Amino acid sequence: MANEVTALSIVHTIQDLQQLLTERRQQGLSVGFVPTMGFLHEGHLSLVEQARQQNDVVVMSIFVNPAQFGPGEDFEAYPRDIERDARLATEAGVTILFMPTREEMYPQEGGIRILPGPQAAELCGASRPGHFDGVLKVVLKLFNIVDPDRSYFGLKDAQQLAIIETFIRDFNLRTKIVRVPTVREQDGLAKSSRNVHLTEAERKEAPVIQQALQLGAGLVVEGLSVNDIEQQVADAIVTNSSGSIDYVSLLAYPELTQADATSKEVILACAVKFSKTRLIDNIIIPLKG
Ligand code: AMP
Repeated sequence: MANEVTALSIVHTIQDLQQLLTERRQQGLSVGFVPTMGFLHEGHLSLVEQARQQNDVVVMSIFVNPAQFGPGEDFEAYPRDIERDARLATEAGVTILFMPTREEMYPQEGGIRILPGPQAAELCGASRPGHFDGVLKVVLKLFNIVDPDRSYFGLKDAQQLAIIETFIRDFNLRTKIVRVPTVREQDGLAKSSRNVHLTEAERKEAPVIQQALQLGAGLVVEGLSVNDIEQQVADAIVTNSSGSIDYVSLLAYPELTQADATSKEVILACAVKFSKTRLIDNIIIPLKG
């Protein structure tokens, strides 16, 4: 697919985007969608790569969504570099880059809120009240604006992915969701736009997050109790880094209910706070039987 070589189009308004998409649809082309908050890295680009393989047109959005940041969170400090992003998106083969302003996406304050279910009460939803309300609002708006055949989400944000899959199912949304594995640095740290906010010393310590999760995955297979596993993972992180634990949690995936012997897959997820940023990572572990 994606036979025709097309230059990247950058659009800032919904109207311009939809005009381009209408033309492509009239030609019978399929549309893959990669929503992001920008400051692109190889994780984002692997979503684009997969979207390119499965669709004729790849739309990427870059929008730092204020609705998913709580008071005192890092909305202002979230890293941004639009020119570099445009270059990387071009090189990766994005067809249309949609970079709306805040006013374009939210011309009015307030309005309707979307209330996610129990999956949003766990993990990041517990530490960031309202976060997933804001995620679902922007995702629904973007799905309605782009009307993609397929949408690409990273397992790096496994809770977000699980909630969006439930949203699609519960509201009969048309797009298909494609799960994309987490892309990591050579030392195992999950690629993230927020890694740029780590100090040099913290950057050296940060791979301990994935190492601790792998240790925990081994304990899951050995059959230790949920509490013991969570405790040992937390201990491994605080002993080997200056980070503090926001949460370490073992749950059934994608339900995000209590893990038990009937769970087919479980997720061991954590959030760790460093001096200027908070990082998340997870590991999904298939269980036998
Ligand atoms: P963000 O810009 O951080 O909101 O991420 C946009 C999309 O890229 C989301 O679907 C993320 O899950 C995905 N993503 C972010 N980091 C990675 C990574 N290291 N590997 C794979 N996907 C990622």
